[in-house]
Amino acid sequence: MENQQEYPQQFSFEFFPPKTPEGADKLIKVRDTLAELKPKYFSVTFGAGGSTQQGTFDTVTAIQQAGFSAAPHLSCVGSTKENIREILKSYMDQGINRIVALRGDMPSGTHDIGEFRFANELVEFIRTETNDHFHIEVAAYPEFHPQASSAEDDLNNFKRKIDAGANSAITQYFFNPDAYFRFVDDCEDLGLTIPIVPGIMPITNYTQLARFSDMCGAEIPRWIRKRLESYGDDKDSIRAFGEDVISEMCHQLLEAGAPGLHFYTMNVTKPTLAIWNNLGL
Ligand code: FAD
Repeated sequence: MENQQEYPQQFSFEFFPPKTPEGADKLIKVRDTLAELKPKYFSVTFGAGGSTQQGTFDTVTAIQQAGFSAAPHLSCVGSTKENIREILKSYMDQGINRIVALRGDMPSGTHDIGEFRFANELVEFIRTETNDHFHIEVAAYPEFHPQASSAEDDLNNFKRKIDAGANSAITQYFFNPDAYFRFVDDCEDLGLTIPIVPGIMPITNYTQLARFSDMCGAEIPRWIRKRLESYGDDKDSIRAFGEDVISEMCHQLLEAGAPGLHFYTMNVTKPTLAIWNNLGL
């Protein structure tokens, strides 16, 4: 964790593109409330295969026009180079200079993977096409990507993204800080010196969290799972326990020198604000 301490701590908030006009109105309020915390940027997710691509563009543009810094996520799976070139140009035209570059996952039922196979190829393409215009963030997996053939391969594949020109990384969420500390140490052993910012998922709904964690390979430790199961439908207890556990973990991460936190807000303010206030940030 040594070199992580050299970076000033920075905080960012992630949204997904709203699906309805009501959702869009609500997101403006959420954004304006979180903006008071002076984040470095707001990022907006991107649906592979076209499902939310216009939504990402519209949401990012609105954030930028309101005077805040926005970073669109961009996934390359299923895309052509021409398609990615056009998207990059549209973001440059909007004055956007930070991007989260991902492979993404093929939507079920689709087979044409397109012209990119892995995120390192997207990073390389962005650098070739736009030089140093974008600050490029990539994804990191302290508990390893579910499709990785081994921990070592996954680390080496992460290194490919940095070697291709990524500037920093945001992690998949995790509930085991030791997995993050070990991952960062392994990266340092590979000579990687970029900031690796922990992705933080507030706990608000156990069923949803369990389903999503299974898919993305984030482990919910047994003691957390058992507690959450025991609360059943008691949302207040889940919320209170979740705030406590995640605040404690964030505190540990920042104390150990993590270069900031990236909150998966799920387009709501309360859980993120509660953790923020507990941390006294
Ligand atoms: P990669 O880095 O390409 O890795 C994918 C897998 O391939 C890994 O197992 C890796 O070990 C292996 N691999 C990588 N490169 C090579 C190579 N050159 N040769 C052989 N194997 C290789 N998904 C979305 O659809 N939209 C989003 O907006 C979105 N935002 C995200 C934000 C963050 C911070 C994170 C952590 C994830 C996000 N995801 C998003 C999920 C992400 O798209 C999936 O986890 C996806 O399965 C992998 O994307 P990646 O960019 O990490 O892929």
